[in-house]
Formats: sequence, structure tokens, C-alpha cells
Amino acid sequence: MSQREIPTILRRIRDDHRTLEYRLANRNSALPYFRPITGHVGSAMQIEGRERVMLGSNNYLGLASHPRVIAAARGALHRYGTGTAGSRLLNGTLDLHAELEAELADWLGTDDALVFVSGYQANVGMLSALLCESDVVVCDSADHASILDGVALSGARLMPFRHGRIDRLERLMQRHGSADGGVLIVVDSVFSMGGDVADLPRIANVCREADAALAVDEAHAIGVLGPHGEGAAAELGVAAATHIRVGTLSKALASSGGFVAGDSGVIDTLRVSARSFLFTSTAVPAAVGAALMAVKICRSAEGAELMGRLHENVRYLRRGLGEIGLPIVEPSRIDGRELDTAIVAVNIGYSYYAVLLWKALYDRGIYTNVALYPATSRGGALIRLSVMATHTRRQLDEALAAFVVTAQESEEMQEQAAVLEAYVDSVTRGEALRST
Ligand code: PMP
Repeated sequence: MSQREIPTILRRIRDDHRTLEYRLANRNSALPYFRPITGHVGSAMQIEGRERVMLGSNNYLGLASHPRVIAAARGALHRYGTGTAGSRLLNGTLDLHAELEAELADWLGTDDALVFVSGYQANVGMLSALLCESDVVVCDSADHASILDGVALSGARLMPFRHGRIDRLERLMQRHGSADGGVLIVVDSVFSMGGDVADLPRIANVCREADAALAVDEAHAIGVLGPHGEGAAAELGVAAATHIRVGTLSKALASSGGFVAGDSGVIDTLRVSARSFLFTSTAVPAAVGAALMAVKICRSAEGAELMGRLHENVRYLRRGLGEIGLPIVEPSRIDGRELDTAIVAVNIGYSYYAVLLWKALYDRGIYTNVALYPATSRGGALIRLSVMATHTRRQLDEALAAFVVTAQESEEMQEQAAVLEAYVDSVTRGEALRST
């Protein structure tokens, strides 16, 4: 097709800077994303033909390969078949959904809970159904994308405050904290990039004083924090002051799906008004069966033991990285307590340098996640390590050894990164120009 025949809108899409960057990185085998996994999920995995220590999975308790979780998934598959072919409203509600929702509500101590197809859809559906244009939503600037998308869809006024700065939140509420409608404060309890924890007791106070409701996304806290793995609100003693809790079944709960838990007024409203709940088919039955078993394990003595092992591993890895001298994101201190989560993030700064570091670790058999803008702030690239209860000391030592060698190459890598950035800039600008 000649340039003239390509509609303007498609030309603009094709020449998007990020798309061009992606294509160039892909062509040069330097892309840190979409690397196909060819083996079983675990603390080490077959990725592109080689076994690598998995430090980039949210399978925090290792339950995705737990024999009882697999058996529950298999049982649901055999009992109900491969799919429901229907929305929850119509023919897509299984008795398993009701059982899972009752188990979640009991675990979190709420009236009720509602299961969605993903955590993303839970946030989008909850916010777009509960809010209207006359409401104000106050968010931490590092809140998950699904929260921001849900707010955008709701039409409510968004007032963000700088990440973690509760003093800014307090000032914001004093100056602008009233609305014709109501006010909702929404925060991640554990922030997905840095692994830091929101100061929920202080935020709950702000809500109390400002007649605001509090919604907390517990995606990275479920199975990690709380006396029985039920999340950060419970860990910090503010579960009763948290009006709405959102979670995912896709991380420590080893399946796929999401949920909202809260009082019955909220959940009944979602049941009849959340569009991302109503206008989509349900998750496959195997996913529901797996999640139900994972929740049961989390709540049991075995769950407590797994959580203990997870935290021991986190402390071990954090200590090791600190000894190498790497700039790790320090654990949050709330009410005088240091709170580790399953995420250990290393501050890198520039995106291209982070990608080169990622590749060096990957080539040494260590799979990590690299977080770049816009998932982080500009110049705030991270190497993000997710620890699992099932990592062995040997695997963690292997990772630390790879970091030692890679850190020794850092000066050279920073120079390479600067050259690479200039090169990519000129190539992408050239490609965009050529196609105009
Ligand atoms: N909230 C947070 C904080 C998350 O990190 C994620 C997943 N990255 C989600 C929601 C979405 O969950 P799911 O993967 O189940 O869609």
C-alpha cells in the first residue's frame, strides 16, 4: 500500500514513538517483555529454552503449582466444562461463584463480595458504577492504571496527590475536599512498582474528618499482609474503616479474576450496575475452582507457614542486595513498624540503562521485571523483584551472584545506554519522517 493510500489515523498509530521503540528493541532482541514461557509455573521456569530463576511473578505463595489448587481447577473443569458461555447476570453464575464470594467476604470480614473476571475489571466496574459527575475522587499518583481508568469512565472529578505524601492529601482535603456529590479516596495498599505500603491509618483518619469513603486496592497485599493474609487494611488495624476493598485472584491467589468486598449496599449496586461485571462472560470454571482452593489454603495453617517463608525470603534478598550496595526502595514504616512486602524494587533511573541491566541479568539466568515510564515516573525506572515463598536459598543466592557481576559492569552499561538512547531517537525520528 502506498503512503497516500494509508489513512491518516493509521499512519499516526503506526508512527507512535512507543510503537517504533518497541519494534526496534524487538528487532534487536533487547525487548524485556513478551518472553515466552514454555514450562510449568514455579520459582524457576523454562523461558526461551533455558531455566531461569523467576523473580518476576506475582505468584507470591507459590500456589499456582500447588497440588490441591491444581486438583481444584481440574475438578471444576470436569464438573462444569471449559467455559460458562454467559454473563454472571444470565447463565454464567455457578454455585462455585457463590461459594467463592461467601469465602472472600468471611475472610475479609465484610457483608458481601463480588467476583469479576479480572482485578482490572473490578476497579473499573466499581468506580464507574459507584461514582457520578458531581463526586470527587482523590487518588495517590502511583495508583494502579485500572483505578485511573475507572475514574475516567465515571466522569467524577479526579484530584491526585503526590505519591505517598499524606501531608499533601491532608492539605488537599482542607482546601478542596468538598463536592456537590461525595468524596471517595482510593489508594493501592501495596504499590505495584515500588512495593511500598500506603499509610492507611492516617488516610482513614483523613476520610473520617472529611466525610469521605475509603476504597483500597489490596492486589499485592492479599496473601502477603494481614494476620491471615487478608491484606494491609487488616494488618494495619483499619479493616473496619475501609469501606471498599478490591483484590485480585491473579497474584497470590494463583488464578485469574478480581473481587470487590464491602457492605451489601455497595455490592448489590455493583451486582446490577457494574458494566465490566454485567457485559462480559465469566471466567472459566477452572479459574474459579482454583481461586476458591487458594483462599482456603491462605486462611489455613499452611498459608501462615507460606507467608512466613515468603517474608523470610524477602528479608534475605533485601539484605543481600543492600550488601551489594544497590539502591533498593526501603520498606515503609507505618505506626513505628517496618512493613516488608513481596516486592523488592531497585532504583535504576534511566530507562535504557534499566533495560540493559535487565538483559544482563536475563542472560545470566535471572528473570526480573523492568518497570519504565509511564508505569513509573520519568527517570524513575526500576528493576522490580517479586519474591515467592517457594524460592530456595540457592535460587536467591544465584540471583544475588548475578547482581554482583552485573553491578560491576554498570559504568560501561550506562555509557552504552546513552549511545543507545541517541540511536533509537534518531532511528524512530527517521522512520516517522520517512513515512510522512
Ligand atoms: N490493581 C493492582 C494494584 C495491580 O497491580 C493489578 C495487576 N497488575 C490489578 C489491580 C489488576 O489485577 P488483574 O491482573 O487481576 O487484572
